[in-house]
Amino acid sequence: DTASNERPEDRAWLADKDHFIHPYTDFTTFQQEGSQVIREASGVTVTDTGGKAYLDAIAGLWCMNLGHGRTEIADAMGEQARKMAYFNTFGHSTNVPASLLAAEVAKRAPGSLNHVFYSTGGSTANDTAVRLIHYYFNRLGRHAKKKIISRNDGYHGSTYFASALTGIHGVHLGFDRISQDLVHHVSAANLYRRPAGMDEAQFCDYLVDELRQRIHQLGAENVAAFIAEPVMGAGGVLVAPAGYHRRVAQLCRENEILYIADEVVTGFGRLGHWFASEDRFGHVPDVIVSAKGISSGYCPLGATLFSDAIHEVIAVPQAPGGVLSHGFTYSGHPVSCAAALATIDIIERENILSHVREVGPYMQTRLKELLRHEVVGDVRGDHLMAGIELVKDRERRINFAPDSGATHKVFVAARQRGVIVRPVGNVIVLSPPLVISKAEIDIIVDTLHETMSEVG
Ligand code: PLP
Repeated sequence: DTASNERPEDRAWLADKDHFIHPYTDFTTFQQEGSQVIREASGVTVTDTGGKAYLDAIAGLWCMNLGHGRTEIADAMGEQARKMAYFNTFGHSTNVPASLLAAEVAKRAPGSLNHVFYSTGGSTANDTAVRLIHYYFNRLGRHAKKKIISRNDGYHGSTYFASALTGIHGVHLGFDRISQDLVHHVSAANLYRRPAGMDEAQFCDYLVDELRQRIHQLGAENVAAFIAEPVMGAGGVLVAPAGYHRRVAQLCRENEILYIADEVVTGFGRLGHWFASEDRFGHVPDVIVSAKGISSGYCPLGATLFSDAIHEVIAVPQAPGGVLSHGFTYSGHPVSCAAALATIDIIERENILSHVREVGPYMQTRLKELLRHEVVGDVRGDHLMAGIELVKDRERRINFAPDSGATHKVFVAARQRGVIVRPVGNVIVLSPPLVISKAEIDIIVDTLHETMSEVG
């Protein structure tokens, strides 16, 4: 039996093709091409089983913030796994890393966001936000306050409820949605595609007015929360007009609607701060949702942060012996929390936030050069999040047809040249590890210059 003599990495390709249902995958090309098996990774480089190395310009999936192969994080995880790999945190049990991490996160969170509920990733952290907000209003006797307002093109995850929050049209194709009346979407803050004739300030007024009208239409007494990413990620890296988040937060406050900031991508340094809501956009949300960068992608972890005001209501027994019946087996998993503690330690020790504040604007400035290519309609982003929107007709801002595969061609051409970018719809997305250097940013931009000429 030759198969059993093969190394696991040689068996992986076929095993994958036959048995592994991949997330978010085009099965036409998958059947033809199979997968690229990534074998090892170090710093900003990943290597496939053919031995070819690539610059990972997407940090795995917006998450490997400190880069690959960090032995400090792996050691912290290994040490915790050997000492005590798991025990539940339900009721009165806890573990050392989960407890310490909650305090470290609270210390860095804005305002009174002092209380952390752990889950396993961004989707479960968003589900937690909504479930506990509903519970909060129920406890206050405001049982009608249930509706959530989200935004078109927002991405909030793939569990049944997080997918309902998600406003990207394409991801709903062929799927059902839970109660359409529970989640309502308003316009994306898409400056590039704003109505003709509006400047940035007028567009901001337009968006705030739209939300005001929607709240009025639904009845503020029926709306529990508004959810938004500080900078939209998977929806195409959309940076809102100046003042947008602050004004929306104010509108929410006036209507006793809680503001949930989905900082799954923007939290833990991608925009040069621990959290972007206050330090980049000037407002303190009621709830912050975090995942990905919190453990630098080394282990699954989600954390939903709640304000003192919400905590005061939900952390009180409903009746003697009554429990807050929400939680996951892996809420506060010690190995994930140990990875997160090591992550925070490195971010601090290596001054990663100031590094991002230095290289982030450099990346944005260099990427603007791509506008010299006719197929590039817009280049946008903030610090180490960037989106390059491709267009067939720049003058009229018309995108390529969905089946043209324009962004996929850029992805393939860049990969051949040793750089991994991410095509989402008409946009090439970049979210490199936060440790990226200016020289590595140059490689990404130069590679994109070369690949753009192959599209059209
Ligand atoms: N929220 C945002 C803003 C995200 O970008 C993502 C994932 O990309 C999620 C939530 C879902 O996180 P997860 O895939 O860990 O469930």
